[in-house]
Amino acid sequence: MLLRAHIWRRSKLYKKQYCHVGTTLKNAKQYDFLKNVKVVFTWLLDGASCIPNAMSLFPGLIAVNAEWAARLVLIGDDEVKRAFRFTMGHEMTHQSGDYMFLEAFTRDRKFVNWVNEVHADYGGAMLSFDGNINDALSAVRYKAKDFLEDKDYQTHPSWKRREDYLKVGAFDIDLIKGIANEVCCSNNALIDKVCKHFEPIVLKED
Ligand SMILES: [Zn+2]
Repeated sequence: MLLRAHIWRRSKLYKKQYCHVGTTLKNAKQYDFLKNVKVVFTWLLDGASCIPNAMSLFPGLIAVNAEWAARLVLIGDDEVKRAFRFTMGHEMTHQSGDYMFLEAFTRDRKFVNWVNEVHADYGGAMLSFDGNINDALSAVRYKAKDFLEDKDYQTHPSWKRREDYLKVGAFDIDLIKGIANEVCCSNNALIDKVCKHFEPIVLKED
C-alpha cells in the first residue's frame, strides 16, 4: 500500500496517469540473468526517498525501493529501463561475486567495498548489456543525475569515479591496484587476495 501511495504521490509531480502497476513491475524484472534470485519492490527500503535505489539484502533477495517502482510505472522509457536493467545486473553481480571481508571502517574495508562496487558495475555491464560499455555508462549517468552532491563514501566511490573506472574498459589487476592506491590501502597481502578472487572483465564499444 505504501508503495502504491508513493507512486500516486510521484504521479502528481510527473503529471502522469498510470495503470497496471502490478503487471508493469512484474514485467520489469523478467531478466534471464536473474537466476535463483527474488526481486522485491518495497517501500521498506528508503521509504519515500525520491532517489532510485536497490540492494542485495542477502543471498537470493534483491530489494528495490519505491522510487524505482514509480520511475518504471510513470516514465518507463528506454533510459529508465536501461538504468533499471543495469541496476539488476549490478545487484546480481554482488549476489555472486563479492569479496567477503568482515573488518569495519578501515582503509582495507574501504578498498574491498570499492572494488566490489566497481566489479558489480563491470559485471552489471556484462549481464545487462553483453559487455557494452556505452550502455553501462548511460545507465551510470542516469543514476548519477539524482545526486545533488557527488562524493566518495566508505561504501561506494562517487558516481564520477564509477564512470571513470568503467571508462577504463577492463576490470583487472591494474584497476584493482589503482583503486587500492586511491583509497590509500597498502595492505599488499589483502590486495593480492582480492586480485586473485576476481576474474578479469573486458568491456566492448558496441
Ligand atoms: Zn553495489
